[in-house]
Amino acid sequence: MRALQISTWHQEAELVEVDEPTPAAGQVVVRVGAAGACHSDLHMMHGKGDFVPFSLPFTLGHENAGWVHSVGDGVRSVEPGQPVAVYGAWGCGHCARCLVGMENYCEGSGTPRVGAGCGLGMDGGMADYMLVPDSRYLLPLPDGLSPAEAAPLTDAGLTPYHAVRRSAQKLVPGSTAVVIGVGGLGHLAIQILKATCATRVIAVDTRSDALDLALSVGADTVIEGGDTAARNVMAATGNRGADFVLDCVGTEATLATAAACTRSLGDLTLIGVAGGALSFSFLCPAYEVSAQSVYWGSRSELAEVLELASQGLIRAETTIYPLEQALDAYRSLAAGEIVGRAVILP
Ligand SMILES: [Zn+2]
Ligand SMILES: [Zn+2]
Repeated sequence: MRALQISTWHQEAELVEVDEPTPAAGQVVVRVGAAGACHSDLHMMHGKGDFVPFSLPFTLGHENAGWVHSVGDGVRSVEPGQPVAVYGAWGCGHCARCLVGMENYCEGSGTPRVGAGCGLGMDGGMADYMLVPDSRYLLPLPDGLSPAEAAPLTDAGLTPYHAVRRSAQKLVPGSTAVVIGVGGLGHLAIQILKATCATRVIAVDTRSDALDLALSVGADTVIEGGDTAARNVMAATGNRGADFVLDCVGTEATLATAAACTRSLGDLTLIGVAGGALSFSFLCPAYEVSAQSVYWGSRSELAEVLELASQGLIRAETTIYPLEQALDAYRSLAAGEIVGRAVILP
Protein backbone atom coordinates (compact mmCIF):
# COMPACT_ATOMS: atom_id res chain seq x y z
CA MET A 1 0.00 0.00 0.00
CA ARG A 2 1.02 3.65 -0.31
CA ALA A 3 2.23 5.66 2.69
CA LEU A 4 3.58 9.21 3.02
CA GLN A 5 6.58 8.77 5.26
CA ILE A 6 9.20 10.93 6.90
CA SER A 7 12.47 9.05 6.48
CA THR A 8 15.00 11.89 6.94
CA TRP A 9 14.73 14.94 9.19
CA HIS A 10 14.74 18.36 7.49
CA GLN A 11 13.44 16.88 4.27
CA GLU A 12 10.05 16.53 2.69
CA ALA A 13 8.19 13.33 3.32
CA GLU A 14 7.92 10.86 0.44
CA LEU A 15 5.25 8.56 -0.88
CA VAL A 16 6.53 4.98 -0.60
CA GLU A 17 5.20 1.43 -0.86
CA VAL A 18 4.94 -0.43 2.43
CA ASP A 19 3.29 -3.66 3.58
CA GLU A 20 -0.38 -3.50 4.45
CA PRO A 21 -0.76 -3.91 8.22
CA THR A 22 -2.57 -6.82 9.85
CA PRO A 23 -4.18 -6.49 13.28
CA ALA A 24 -2.88 -8.52 16.24
CA ALA A 25 -5.12 -9.24 19.22
CA GLY A 26 -6.90 -6.08 20.40
CA GLN A 27 -5.81 -4.11 17.34
CA VAL A 28 -7.77 -2.69 14.43
CA VAL A 29 -6.83 -1.83 10.86
CA VAL A 30 -8.69 1.19 9.51
CA ARG A 31 -9.16 1.88 5.80
CA VAL A 32 -8.28 5.55 5.78
CA GLY A 33 -11.02 7.82 4.49
CA ALA A 34 -9.25 11.11 5.16
CA ALA A 35 -6.19 12.50 6.94
CA GLY A 36 -5.68 16.16 7.83
CA ALA A 37 -2.41 17.97 7.07
CA CYS A 38 -1.21 19.90 10.12
CA HIS A 39 1.39 22.61 10.66
CA SER A 40 3.10 20.35 13.18
CA ASP A 41 3.87 17.96 10.30
CA LEU A 42 5.76 20.82 8.63
CA HIS A 43 7.68 21.40 11.85
CA MET A 44 8.62 17.75 11.95
CA MET A 45 9.73 17.82 8.32
CA HIS A 46 11.57 21.11 8.40
CA GLY A 47 11.89 22.14 12.03
CA LYS A 48 14.65 21.86 14.56
CA GLY A 49 15.88 18.35 15.24
CA ASP A 50 15.12 18.63 18.94
CA PHE A 51 11.46 19.38 18.27
CA VAL A 52 10.55 15.73 18.11
CA PRO A 53 12.10 12.80 19.96
CA PHE A 54 10.75 10.21 17.52
CA SER A 55 12.69 7.68 15.48
CA LEU A 56 12.37 7.36 11.72
CA PRO A 57 10.76 6.39 9.46
CA PHE A 58 7.06 6.76 10.18
CA THR A 59 3.94 7.60 8.21
CA LEU A 60 2.52 11.10 8.66
CA GLY A 61 -1.12 11.86 9.49
CA HIS A 62 -2.37 12.42 13.04
CA GLU A 63 -5.91 13.55 12.12
CA ASN A 64 -7.71 10.55 10.74
CA ALA A 65 -11.08 9.04 10.02
CA GLY A 66 -12.18 6.12 7.89
CA TRP A 67 -13.80 2.72 8.09
CA VAL A 68 -12.88 -0.32 10.16
CA HIS A 69 -11.21 -2.74 7.75
CA SER A 70 -10.24 -5.70 9.94
CA VAL A 71 -10.10 -6.43 13.66
CA GLY A 72 -7.80 -8.58 15.78
CA ASP A 73 -8.88 -11.23 18.28
CA GLY A 74 -10.91 -9.92 21.18
CA VAL A 75 -12.06 -6.67 19.56
CA ARG A 76 -15.77 -6.25 20.24
CA SER A 77 -16.37 -2.48 20.27
CA VAL A 78 -16.16 -1.98 16.49
CA GLU A 79 -16.85 -4.10 13.43
CA PRO A 80 -15.66 -4.09 9.82
CA GLY A 81 -17.28 -1.44 7.66
CA GLN A 82 -18.09 0.86 10.56
CA PRO A 83 -17.12 4.54 10.05
CA VAL A 84 -14.80 5.78 12.80
CA ALA A 85 -12.67 8.72 13.91
CA VAL A 86 -9.23 7.91 15.32
CA TYR A 87 -8.16 9.42 18.64
CA GLY A 88 -4.52 10.10 17.84
CA ALA A 89 -2.66 10.40 21.15
CA TRP A 90 -1.71 6.85 21.90
CA GLY A 91 -0.78 6.50 25.57
CA CYS A 92 0.04 3.50 27.73
CA GLY A 93 -3.56 3.04 28.84
CA HIS A 94 -2.61 2.39 32.48
CA CYS A 95 -1.14 5.54 34.05
CA ALA A 96 -3.21 8.08 36.00
CA ARG A 97 -3.61 10.33 32.96
CA CYS A 98 -4.63 7.55 30.59
CA LEU A 99 -7.12 6.18 33.13
CA VAL A 100 -9.11 9.42 32.86
CA GLY A 101 -8.86 9.41 29.06
CA MET A 102 -6.13 12.05 28.86
CA GLU A 103 -3.76 9.87 26.85
CA ASN A 104 -2.38 13.10 25.38
CA TYR A 105 -0.55 13.55 28.71
CA CYS A 106 0.41 9.91 29.25
CA GLU A 107 3.12 9.50 31.87
CA GLY A 108 3.79 5.85 31.17
CA SER A 109 7.22 4.61 30.23
CA GLY A 110 8.33 2.41 27.38
CA THR A 111 6.37 2.23 24.17
CA PRO A 112 4.32 3.91 22.99
CA ARG A 113 6.59 6.79 23.80
CA VAL A 114 5.20 9.70 25.82
CA GLY A 115 3.79 12.34 23.47
CA ALA A 116 3.64 9.90 20.61
CA GLY A 117 0.66 8.94 18.55
CA CYS A 118 -0.36 8.17 15.04
CA GLY A 119 1.67 10.25 12.60
CA LEU A 120 3.85 11.35 15.52
CA GLY A 121 6.57 8.75 15.81
CA MET A 122 4.14 5.96 14.96
CA ASP A 123 2.54 5.27 11.59
CA GLY A 124 -0.36 7.60 10.88
CA GLY A 125 -3.12 7.91 8.35
CA MET A 126 -1.50 9.33 5.22
CA ALA A 127 -1.73 5.86 3.71
CA ASP A 128 -4.31 3.47 2.35
CA TYR A 129 -4.61 1.69 5.70
CA MET A 130 -3.48 2.39 9.24
CA LEU A 131 -2.91 0.10 12.19
CA VAL A 132 -4.63 1.29 15.36
CA PRO A 133 -3.01 -0.46 18.35
CA ASP A 134 -6.13 -0.54 20.52
CA SER A 135 -9.82 -0.33 19.71
CA ARG A 136 -10.30 2.25 22.50
CA TYR A 137 -8.78 4.85 20.14
CA LEU A 138 -11.75 4.52 17.77
CA LEU A 139 -14.91 6.60 18.12
CA PRO A 140 -17.96 5.89 15.96
CA LEU A 141 -18.71 8.66 13.48
CA PRO A 142 -22.12 10.27 14.00
CA ASP A 143 -24.60 9.77 11.15
CA GLY A 144 -24.08 12.23 8.34
CA LEU A 145 -20.48 13.11 9.20
CA SER A 146 -18.09 11.98 6.44
CA PRO A 147 -14.48 10.98 7.15
CA ALA A 148 -13.28 14.10 5.28
CA GLU A 149 -15.36 16.30 7.59
CA ALA A 150 -14.44 14.31 10.69
CA ALA A 151 -10.67 13.91 10.23
CA PRO A 152 -9.73 17.56 11.03
CA LEU A 153 -11.89 17.43 14.14
CA THR A 154 -9.59 14.85 15.77
CA ASP A 155 -6.82 17.45 16.23
CA ALA A 156 -7.75 20.83 14.74
CA GLY A 157 -11.09 20.50 16.54
CA LEU A 158 -10.02 18.61 19.65
CA THR A 159 -7.06 20.78 20.63
CA PRO A 160 -8.90 24.13 20.66
CA TYR A 161 -11.91 22.38 22.24
CA HIS A 162 -9.81 21.31 25.21
CA ALA A 163 -8.22 24.78 25.39
CA VAL A 164 -11.63 26.46 25.43
CA ARG A 165 -13.16 24.04 27.95
CA ARG A 166 -10.39 24.54 30.49
CA SER A 167 -11.03 28.31 30.36
CA ALA A 168 -14.82 28.08 30.17
CA GLN A 169 -15.37 29.60 33.62
CA LYS A 170 -13.72 32.80 32.43
CA LEU A 171 -15.75 32.97 29.23
CA VAL A 172 -18.89 34.39 30.81
CA PRO A 173 -21.32 36.74 29.03
CA GLY A 174 -19.52 40.06 28.63
CA SER A 175 -16.12 38.40 28.28
CA THR A 176 -13.86 38.51 25.24
CA ALA A 177 -11.90 35.71 23.59
CA VAL A 178 -9.13 36.36 21.06
CA VAL A 179 -8.07 33.76 18.50
CA ILE A 180 -4.70 34.50 16.91
CA GLY A 181 -4.19 32.66 13.61
CA VAL A 182 -7.26 31.57 11.65
CA GLY A 183 -6.00 28.39 10.02
CA GLY A 184 -7.05 24.79 10.63
CA LEU A 185 -7.20 25.11 14.43
CA GLY A 186 -8.20 28.77 14.58
CA HIS A 187 -11.29 28.58 12.39
CA LEU A 188 -12.58 25.68 14.49
CA ALA A 189 -11.66 27.50 17.72
CA ILE A 190 -13.92 30.39 16.73
CA GLN A 191 -16.83 28.02 16.11
CA ILE A 192 -16.23 26.13 19.36
CA LEU A 193 -16.19 29.39 21.33
CA LYS A 194 -19.44 30.53 19.75
CA ALA A 195 -21.09 27.12 20.18
CA THR A 196 -20.14 26.59 23.83
CA CYS A 197 -19.66 30.04 25.43
CA ALA A 198 -21.54 33.36 25.37
CA THR A 199 -18.30 35.24 24.75
CA ARG A 200 -17.37 37.82 22.15
CA VAL A 201 -14.77 36.48 19.71
CA ILE A 202 -12.07 38.61 18.12
CA ALA A 203 -9.98 36.94 15.40
CA VAL A 204 -6.48 38.13 14.53
CA ASP A 205 -4.56 37.17 11.38
CA THR A 206 -2.18 38.83 8.94
CA ARG A 207 -3.98 37.30 5.91
CA SER A 208 -7.14 38.98 4.67
CA ASP A 209 -8.67 35.72 3.39
CA ALA A 210 -8.19 34.21 6.85
CA LEU A 211 -10.04 37.17 8.36
CA ASP A 212 -12.84 36.64 5.84
CA LEU A 213 -13.00 33.00 6.93
CA ALA A 214 -13.09 34.12 10.58
CA LEU A 215 -16.13 36.32 9.93
CA SER A 216 -17.86 33.61 7.92
CA VAL A 217 -17.53 31.10 10.79
CA GLY A 218 -18.82 33.48 13.44
CA ALA A 219 -16.11 35.84 14.71
CA ASP A 220 -17.66 39.06 16.00
CA THR A 221 -14.69 41.27 15.14
CA VAL A 222 -11.51 40.80 13.14
CA ILE A 223 -8.22 42.62 13.63
CA GLU A 224 -5.23 42.62 11.32
CA GLY A 225 -2.22 40.83 12.82
CA GLY A 226 1.10 42.58 13.40
CA ASP A 227 2.52 45.30 15.62
CA THR A 228 -0.77 47.10 16.08
CA ALA A 229 -2.89 44.03 16.86
CA ALA A 230 -2.53 44.09 20.67
CA ARG A 231 -3.31 47.81 20.82
CA ASN A 232 -6.40 47.27 18.68
CA VAL A 233 -7.59 44.40 20.89
CA MET A 234 -7.14 46.63 23.94
CA ALA A 235 -9.12 49.39 22.25
CA ALA A 236 -11.87 46.93 21.31
CA THR A 237 -12.15 45.76 24.93
CA GLY A 238 -12.28 49.16 26.65
CA ASN A 239 -8.59 48.75 27.53
CA ARG A 240 -9.29 45.74 29.72
CA GLY A 241 -7.88 43.10 27.40
CA ALA A 242 -9.24 39.67 26.53
CA ASP A 243 -10.22 37.12 29.16
CA PHE A 244 -8.90 34.31 26.98
CA VAL A 245 -6.28 34.56 24.25
CA LEU A 246 -5.66 31.47 22.14
CA ASP A 247 -2.44 31.61 20.13
CA CYS A 248 -2.79 29.13 17.28
CA VAL A 249 0.52 30.23 15.71
CA GLY A 250 3.18 30.41 18.41
CA THR A 251 5.83 32.72 16.99
CA GLU A 252 7.71 35.25 19.13
CA ALA A 253 5.51 37.95 17.55
CA THR A 254 2.14 36.28 18.15
CA LEU A 255 3.07 35.44 21.74
CA ALA A 256 4.07 39.06 22.31
CA THR A 257 0.69 40.14 20.94
CA ALA A 258 -1.05 37.61 23.18
CA ALA A 259 0.87 38.73 26.27
CA ALA A 260 0.08 42.38 25.61
CA CYS A 261 -3.68 41.92 25.27
CA THR A 262 -4.62 39.29 27.88
CA ARG A 263 -6.69 40.77 30.70
CA SER A 264 -5.54 40.47 34.31
CA LEU A 265 -6.68 37.10 35.71
CA GLY A 266 -7.12 35.92 32.11
CA ASP A 267 -5.78 32.87 30.31
CA LEU A 268 -3.11 32.93 27.62
CA THR A 269 -3.15 29.54 25.93
CA LEU A 270 -0.67 28.38 23.31
CA ILE A 271 -1.56 25.66 20.80
CA GLY A 272 0.59 26.81 17.85
CA VAL A 273 3.89 25.00 17.41
CA ALA A 274 5.96 27.64 15.61
CA GLY A 275 8.51 27.50 18.45
CA GLY A 276 8.54 31.11 19.69
CA ALA A 277 9.03 31.94 23.38
CA LEU A 278 6.92 34.08 25.69
CA SER A 279 8.71 36.78 27.62
CA PHE A 280 7.58 37.26 31.21
CA SER A 281 8.08 40.24 33.49
CA PHE A 282 6.30 41.94 36.39
CA LEU A 283 4.14 44.14 34.18
CA CYS A 284 3.60 41.97 31.12
CA PRO A 285 1.59 39.77 30.92
CA ALA A 286 -0.94 41.56 33.18
CA TYR A 287 -1.36 40.49 36.81
CA GLU A 288 -2.39 36.91 37.43
CA VAL A 289 -2.54 35.92 33.80
CA SER A 290 -2.14 32.16 33.52
CA ALA A 291 -0.15 30.86 30.58
CA GLN A 292 -0.32 27.28 29.36
CA SER A 293 0.45 25.20 26.35
CA VAL A 294 -2.06 22.57 25.31
CA TYR A 295 -1.37 19.33 23.47
CA TRP A 296 -4.55 17.71 22.12
CA GLY A 297 -7.43 16.76 24.43
CA SER A 298 -8.95 13.70 26.04
CA ARG A 299 -10.80 10.81 24.44
CA SER A 300 -14.10 11.92 25.95
CA GLU A 301 -13.54 15.45 24.65
CA LEU A 302 -13.17 14.04 21.14
CA ALA A 303 -16.60 12.44 21.56
CA GLU A 304 -17.93 15.87 22.54
CA VAL A 305 -16.32 17.51 19.50
CA LEU A 306 -17.94 14.92 17.22
CA GLU A 307 -21.26 15.62 18.94
CA LEU A 308 -20.89 19.36 18.25
CA ALA A 309 -20.28 18.54 14.59
CA SER A 310 -23.23 16.16 14.41
CA GLN A 311 -25.44 18.96 15.75
CA GLY A 312 -24.15 21.21 12.97
CA LEU A 313 -22.55 23.62 15.45
CA ILE A 314 -19.02 23.28 14.08
CA ARG A 315 -17.79 22.42 10.62
CA ALA A 316 -14.27 22.14 9.27
CA GLU A 317 -13.59 24.18 6.16
CA THR A 318 -11.51 21.84 4.02
CA THR A 319 -9.46 21.78 0.84
CA ILE A 320 -9.20 18.23 -0.50
CA TYR A 321 -6.05 16.72 -2.03
CA PRO A 322 -5.48 13.14 -3.25
CA LEU A 323 -2.66 11.26 -1.52
CA GLU A 324 -0.41 11.62 -4.60
CA GLN A 325 -0.60 15.40 -4.16
CA ALA A 326 -0.07 15.46 -0.39
CA LEU A 327 3.26 17.25 -0.73
CA ASP A 328 1.53 20.00 -2.73
CA ALA A 329 -0.84 20.40 0.20
CA TYR A 330 2.09 20.81 2.60
CA ARG A 331 3.79 23.31 0.29
CA SER A 332 0.60 25.37 0.13
CA LEU A 333 0.24 25.09 3.90
CA ALA A 334 3.81 26.34 4.38
CA ALA A 335 3.08 29.25 2.04
CA GLY A 336 -0.02 30.21 4.05
CA GLU A 337 -2.28 29.52 1.07
CA ILE A 338 -4.67 26.99 2.63
CA VAL A 339 -8.02 28.33 3.78
CA GLY A 340 -9.15 26.15 6.68
CA ARG A 341 -7.71 22.62 6.69
CA ALA A 342 -5.99 20.66 3.92
CA VAL A 343 -7.33 17.12 3.98
CA ILE A 344 -5.69 14.21 2.15
CA LEU A 345 -7.81 11.43 0.68
CA PRO A 346 -6.06 8.16 -0.17
ZN1 LIG B 1 -1.76 18.71 14.52
ZN1 LIG C 1 -0.39 6.49 30.11
